[in-house]
This record gives sequence, structure tokens and C-alpha cells, in this order.
Amino acid sequence: MVAPFHTDQIFIGGQWIAPNGGRVLPIENPSNGETLGRLAAGGAEDIDAAVQAARAALDGPWGRTTAVERGRVLARMGREVEARIDMLAELEALDVGKPLKQARADVVALARYLEFYAGAADKLHGETIPFLDGYTVYTLREPHGVTGHVIPWNYPMQIIGRSVVAALAVGNAAVLKPAEQASLTALAFAHIAEDCGLPAGALNVVTGTGAEAGAALAAHPGVNHLSFTGSTGVGVVIQQAAAVNAVPVTLELGGKSPQLVFDDADLDKALPFLVNAGVQNAGQTCSAGSRVLVQRGVYDEVVRRMGERFRALTVGPAMDDRDVGPLVSRKQQAMVERYIELGRADGLIAAQATLGELPSGGAYVAPTLFAGVAPDHALAQEEIFGPAVVVIPFETEEGAIAIANGTDYGLVAGVWTADGGRQMRLARRLRAGQVFINNYGAAGGVELPFGGVGKSGHGREKGFEALYAFTTLKTVAAHHG
Ligand code: NAP
Ligand code: MG
Repeated sequence: MVAPFHTDQIFIGGQWIAPNGGRVLPIENPSNGETLGRLAAGGAEDIDAAVQAARAALDGPWGRTTAVERGRVLARMGREVEARIDMLAELEALDVGKPLKQARADVVALARYLEFYAGAADKLHGETIPFLDGYTVYTLREPHGVTGHVIPWNYPMQIIGRSVVAALAVGNAAVLKPAEQASLTALAFAHIAEDCGLPAGALNVVTGTGAEAGAALAAHPGVNHLSFTGSTGVGVVIQQAAAVNAVPVTLELGGKSPQLVFDDADLDKALPFLVNAGVQNAGQTCSAGSRVLVQRGVYDEVVRRMGERFRALTVGPAMDDRDVGPLVSRKQQAMVERYIELGRADGLIAAQATLGELPSGGAYVAPTLFAGVAPDHALAQEEIFGPAVVVIPFETEEGAIAIANGTDYGLVAGVWTADGGRQMRLARRLRAGQVFINNYGAAGGVELPFGGVGKSGHGREKGFEALYAFTTLKTVAAHHG
């Protein structure tokens, strides 16, 4: 058995049970194509039971749990996640194809989210508002109630941290539908919650497909808030379902995030980020810095030096812990290969890593650098979601801003320049939810609000902003004369 628990059970109201009808899906190992086990395929009845269990928890012990106690249980979970780092990292590596040390970084991030939101749970409060004579007016920050969380396969643990953990910190009861390709760490997280004494029904996990379990969760009238991370197309469908029930939605969608490199940039500092931000997790990162815009004066040097790094990247099974693992599935591999063939046909490939001996059933793609790409080319506009970076030349600051803002997306942006005035101008003018100056990603800081504009979505997770998003504000006006 791949996991130290049953992978074909779902977690509802504190019970591990078989899904209604007992259906299962295969769990695939993208490093070699082998089947790792069986995953429960939950459906609408299971989602309904989970939503009812969450509601019962709010009406029961979980709803009466004080903020400080919520914080304490999350803190215990954080310590337990750290203690089980080997098991969690191995599960994620096998399930997603993520190189082991990248999987370990995700475990550390989940523990850090638990630590941060444990500490924040009792620090969120309302205000008193000066008002008319004879009144006392104050606001209460209250949980929405039942929160639904539909998450993707690329960073399951990090997304559980920024979404489910934040929702629990402020007293919501959560129903989580992980992605079918990567559900194992979500199940492991539920075991940890159970072992740490999170009251029954506060967290429910229903595995299954998006079309069945995901759609049922998005449409359920008993859900009071929806948080979705994934593709723009499905995000739109989720928002439509939520609209029917007039439910608020946080959408964390895709991106085509630019990194702008000016002539005066510190290239030695920038280069590792120009490559790694595009190939980390085999490029399957919503905030991948996959569009590198380079000013003419350093263009040839940047392409040459990025090319050297691309050619040196090593690719292999997740457990071998190379630079780049397989993609999550053969389907994703085929999608990315189509983009590489497009680049090859248009003569845009500047460098490519060599794939050595690899397991034949694995979903491997050669990390690829495209250069001289026109800003309106499909490779520069569409999210490839594979280990591929495009390089686009620019002449002026104005031109760079126009190219950077010239996609439908707006998730994050990186700026590499020594000019302080330019740093400030670009921070304002780039259309994105996060702007990084002379760094990229800020080491994933859990404290930093995150989210997009445009087709990258709306609403913010991470930091204190998530706590506002996962609560609703009630105004109390008392007339006492
Ligand atoms: P996706 O289809 O958007 O999947 C995300 C989650 O939504 C999964 O749990 C999925 O379930 C679920 N889902 C799918 N259809 C649904 C529906 N009709 N109603 C409710 N839930 C539904 O993403 P994907 O297919 O895994 O990846 C496709 C593309 O999405 C990628 O190439 C990339 O461009 C983008 N993406 C972005 C992010 C990000 O972090 N922003 C993450 C992953 C993917 P199942 O997968 O179990 O069916
Ligand atoms: Mg898998």
C-alpha cells in the first residue's frame, strides 16, 4: 500500500467511509505510469453528506470552539505535519511526480501556514464605530459557515494551507475536493486533523472527479463560500454555479507572469530566478515566471546564459530528486508537447535539456527555452504549464510595460533593475496581484496576500487578507439612550 491509510475512503463528519456506490479511480504514478492504488470516487450524495456534516459541526462543538482553541488545534496540526514530513513528501512525490526536495518544501510550507493561521486565529476582530448619541455600534467578524474548496494537483499541500487552513482559523467548516490526480496528501491532512483533535465535521474531504464531486460541491445550496484554484475555464464554471446560490467566490486561476530584465539588472542574481521560476514543479505553477522580457542591451547575454542553464537541467523520476520531474499526467505531457512542436515549427527553440534514460511510462518533457518570441505569439500568450520559458526582447520601459500587461492574465510580475525610480513606476503600472522587485516569488511567503486580476481570478488568499475573505462582517447597532 502506498499510503499508511486507506486511499479509497472519504472523510465525512469525522468518519472514514466508502463513497456512496463504492466507486474508485486509479491512482497513477506519473514517474513511471504504474498504478499506485485506488482512490474513492465520491459523487453528489457524498458531497451532500459532507456539507450536512459541516453544517452540523457549526451547530455543534466546532461552532462553539473559541478562537484561541481553534489556533491551538491548528498549531498542533502544524507540528504534526512537520513530524510526518517524510511520509507527506514521499506521497506527494509519488502522486504528482514532484522531485522529493520540492515536495518537502511543500510540506514545510503547509506547516508554516498552520503556524501562521494558528497565531492569527485570535487576532482577528471587529471594530467599534463612533455614531449618534445613545448608540453603541460595533462589527463582528464571523465565519461564512460551510466553505467549499476545489483545488488542483500542482501544489495540493500549499493550497490546502492557504485556503482550508485559513478558513478553519476563523471558524468555518470546510469541505475539500482535491484533484483526482493528487489527492493523497489531502487525505493525509485529514488524518492529521483527526489525530490532533479537530472536532468532527470541521474538515471533510471528498475525493473524486471535478465533473461529479467538484460540480456537486460548487452547486450545493448549503455551501456559503467557495474557494477554487485551477484553470480559468473551470473557474468560470464554478463562479456560474456559485451565482445561482448567490455565494461569494475566491478564484485563483492561471497566469502568464512576466519577469522584466533591464540593461542595468544584476544578471548574476537574476539568472537562477529566470530559469527556476519557469521550471520549478516542471513548470506546473500558476505563478510561474514563464515570460521573460529582456532589454536589448543584455538580450543576447541573457538568452545565452539561460540557454546554458536549460541545457544543464536534469530530468528524472520524482524519487531520484533531479531538477525536473515528470508532468502530472500523460494528458498534460501531450498538451505541453504540442506547444514545443509549435515552437520548433516556428524556429523559436533556443535551448533544450536532454532527456536521458527514463521509465517508459513516465510523463516527461524536455525543459525548453524559446527565444525571439513575438509578444502576440501563442507561446507568449497561453499558459503552457510545463517546463518552458519564452524570452521576448524589448527596447524601452514603456514598451516593456505594454508587453508585460499584454495578456489576459495578471497574477504576478518580477522586475530586475537597479533603478529605484523605475522599480517604483513598474510596481504601480504592472497589472498583477503581486510584484517582485529584484527577486521572484519572495520565497513563497505565507504572510503575503496572493491572487490575480483579469483572467487570473479575483479575491485574495494568504496573509491576513485570507482571514477577511473567509469571514463576513456583521454590524451591531445598539440603542441604549
Ligand atoms: P482544472 O480542470 O481547473 O482542475 C482544478 C480542480 O477543479 C480539480 O480539482 C478538478 O477536478 C476540478 N474540476 C474540474 N472540472 C470541474 C467542474 N466542472 N466543476 C467543479 N470542479 C471541477 O485544472 P486541470 O485540468 O487540472 O489543469 C488544466 C489547466 O489548468 C492547466 O494546464 C493550467 O493551465 C491550469 N491550472 C492552474 C492552476 C493554478 O494553480 N492556477 C493549477 C492547476 C491547473 P479533477 O481534476 O479531479 O477532475
Ligand atoms: Mg497522481
